[in-house]
Amino acid sequence: MADLRLNRVAKSYGIHSVIEPLDLVADAGEFVVFVGPSGCGKSTLLRVIAGLETTTGGEIEIGGKVVTHLSPVDRGVAMVFQSYALYPHMTVAENIGFGLKIAGVPKDQRKAKVEKAAEVLQLTPLLQRKPKALSGGQRQRVAIGRAIVKEPRIFLFDEPLSNLDAELRVQMRLEIARLHQELGATMIYVTHDQVEAMTLADKIVVLRSGKIEQVGNPMSLYENPDNTFVAGFIGSPKMNFVSCVVDEVNESGIVARAPDISPGQFTVSRTRGSAAIGASLTLGFRPEHVKLIEDQGANARVEVVERLGNVTYAHVKTPQDAHLILELRGDERASQGDSICFMPDPERALLFDANGDRV
Ligand code: ADP
Ligand code: MG
Repeated sequence: MADLRLNRVAKSYGIHSVIEPLDLVADAGEFVVFVGPSGCGKSTLLRVIAGLETTTGGEIEIGGKVVTHLSPVDRGVAMVFQSYALYPHMTVAENIGFGLKIAGVPKDQRKAKVEKAAEVLQLTPLLQRKPKALSGGQRQRVAIGRAIVKEPRIFLFDEPLSNLDAELRVQMRLEIARLHQELGATMIYVTHDQVEAMTLADKIVVLRSGKIEQVGNPMSLYENPDNTFVAGFIGSPKMNFVSCVVDEVNESGIVARAPDISPGQFTVSRTRGSAAIGASLTLGFRPEHVKLIEDQGANARVEVVERLGNVTYAHVKTPQDAHLILELRGDERASQGDSICFMPDPERALLFDANGDRV
């Protein structure tokens, strides 16, 4: 395993910039997830790290050595793609060992490496099967096996679970987490799925339009997002946003009113700085950080109720037409068409300025 350092790495195609100059460190043994919407440059950045694309600026270091202009093979990385691209006429063992064969590794060494990888991936009973006799999850494990036998210094994964159905995806996610623990290898993993990012990562890198929006461990991004983009991207269902106006700033925090929700004031204590009296800000609160209250007059109408068993989500509309999602707990009940009154927990709510940055 090795660490990875990107120093002002950039990529453009002609005049079209895909990755703005960015700095990033993945420590040796760390599981780093690049997450962001489709088209934000995740795959491009991964391919630049792999050496499958040239950089148009900056420097890439792996294990303390500059590899910016080295070929993929000489970088000591192995990549696993969304499509498994297995050779249909070869057995599982031959597929896993093929790269080693091409590299001229002697047969007995090859066999030992393939068997060891198969054991880690629980593929041992399937070594003599052909790909067509495997499930999607088993095929993806073979593709991972091909990477493992190369004993790379860094594993690169590009949306490896996207072709699998929901149940298998959850199972393979656990497999990959186990694999990371077992190998202790540095892994860079690309996904557009924030749940995969949250559950797998030591460190999440949120990308948007070729720029890093925020880097941090999953809970720090969830609890302490830098802007509305990260706040809205991390967490499911999404954070609610409504407009608010600053009435006062005191030692307890920023006192604001959000007319969409309530005529009353509340004091947001989790602030980073100050705000001008009368400033228009955005109040963000997660569905789980609200409570229903009685005898205060209704401030929302329930449009849809989703009961998931352990938790219920009420999709509500305020008189000002803000659509919000509230998580209901325990004895809190709501049915479609009900008029209800709720309040965000001011101790958990966040404020953002007109640019979407945390206040
Ligand atoms: P993601 O993996 O996050 O969905 P990509 O890295 O595949 O995004 O693509 C990022 C952007 O770069 C997209 O706008 C895409 O159209 C553009 N792009 C990717 N490859 C090329 C290429 N070979 N030539 C021109 N533009 C490209
Ligand atoms: Mg991609």
